[in-house]
Amino acid sequence: MSDQNPQSAPPRIGIVSLGCPKALVDSERIITKLRAEGYDLASSYDGADAVIVNTCGFLDSAKAESLDAIGEAIQENGRVIVTGCMGGDESAIRNVHPDVLAVSGPHQYEAVVNAVHDAVPPPHDPFVDLVPEAGLHLTPRHYAYLKISEGCHNSCSFCIIPQLRGDLVSRQANDVMYEAERLARAGVKELLVISQDTSAYGQDLKYAESTWNGKPVAARMLDLCENLSSLDVWVRLHYVYPYPHVDNVIPLMADGKILPYLDIPFQHASPDILKAMKRPAHGEKTLDRINQWRRDCPDLTLRSTFIVGFPGETDDDVELLLDWLDAAQLDRVGCFKFEPVAGAPANELANHVDEDEKTDRWERVMELQRGISERKLAPKVGKTMDVIIDELDSEGAIGRTKGDAPDVDGSVFLDGDFDVAPGDIIQAIITDSDDFDLWAKRCF
Ligand code: SF4
Repeated sequence: MSDQNPQSAPPRIGIVSLGCPKALVDSERIITKLRAEGYDLASSYDGADAVIVNTCGFLDSAKAESLDAIGEAIQENGRVIVTGCMGGDESAIRNVHPDVLAVSGPHQYEAVVNAVHDAVPPPHDPFVDLVPEAGLHLTPRHYAYLKISEGCHNSCSFCIIPQLRGDLVSRQANDVMYEAERLARAGVKELLVISQDTSAYGQDLKYAESTWNGKPVAARMLDLCENLSSLDVWVRLHYVYPYPHVDNVIPLMADGKILPYLDIPFQHASPDILKAMKRPAHGEKTLDRINQWRRDCPDLTLRSTFIVGFPGETDDDVELLLDWLDAAQLDRVGCFKFEPVAGAPANELANHVDEDEKTDRWERVMELQRGISERKLAPKVGKTMDVIIDELDSEGAIGRTKGDAPDVDGSVFLDGDFDVAPGDIIQAIITDSDDFDLWAKRCF
């Protein structure tokens, strides 16, 4: 939050808008957002605390005009933020004008506004301050979901997300980092990184770099994890696919930089079914990978989801899945019965499984996993663990270990302990366990 005197004049931002009507609309969106945050608009260079140049890069002549406009703004004002079509080629701008404060491409409204925040902190405004700096959230104050991309570039045959939400569109890394930073400043203790395919983050951007707090950050899963780890909050990864590059984040988990937790929706183990599902990374030798991850990070918690009763699934496929689960010893498993979602290609496949058979298969998976979960939790009794408190009820505090995501995994019950608050991270000794949950007492 700004430390400016609330009585002082609001900071003023100038804008030079070049190019076509689409660029003009972008400029309007940017200034609308800035005005809503309490900034004033400056009509001349010398009255501005910073200047945005919205560039055009359509023709060489337009590029030259954009570079001239940036040069003029630097000369007249000195604090220049570049955006727009030519911003897609950051090096072309920085080669001529290395001193610009930030560069972003077309339609990157958030990135521009973040760069303005960086250059000139937002003013105090009683109307704007009704909205918390970190935005409005439906989750408790101490954890928040951090969405790093929209859409999906896979084509799993049971899914219509790509039809509904379109192809993968990753957020620029600095955009994600500024949001994460705001959330951490607002008191969030745990960030849950989500997307449709977290391991694909940045592929569509060709892992482009952007500037966060004056340093370059790349739109790549490993880099994002490293940067998030600097915020000193728990960072939990969801919806990761078992591509080889996922191996690279395991050392960050072993070093305690991000939580030793991976949520990988394997969905099945039978190669035939995975192929029919058109799952990403279906050819990977996942058991070998899991074993290697556990060697590198013994505290790793693995969560996954599975679908039984997919069209064409045979008894042999189910046996294969059960054997695989037995060998994989995953910590947390969710299982769903296949449902033909309207519009999904899988609906056209032959040999749909009847509902009773699906239920039978579902029960076998859940029963096997219940035993695995019980056996995996029992050795935690007697260990001291970090527990984040989620809530208090009439019996005491309820929290989670680093191995438990909110809503989907187990809980830690601290019966009779009311002297903690949601968001506290405490140390507790585990005293009991059952199929899915733990009981503990706080260490003093
Ligand atoms: S199920 Fe497959 S297609 Fe659907 S969102 Fe996930 S990865 Fe993308």
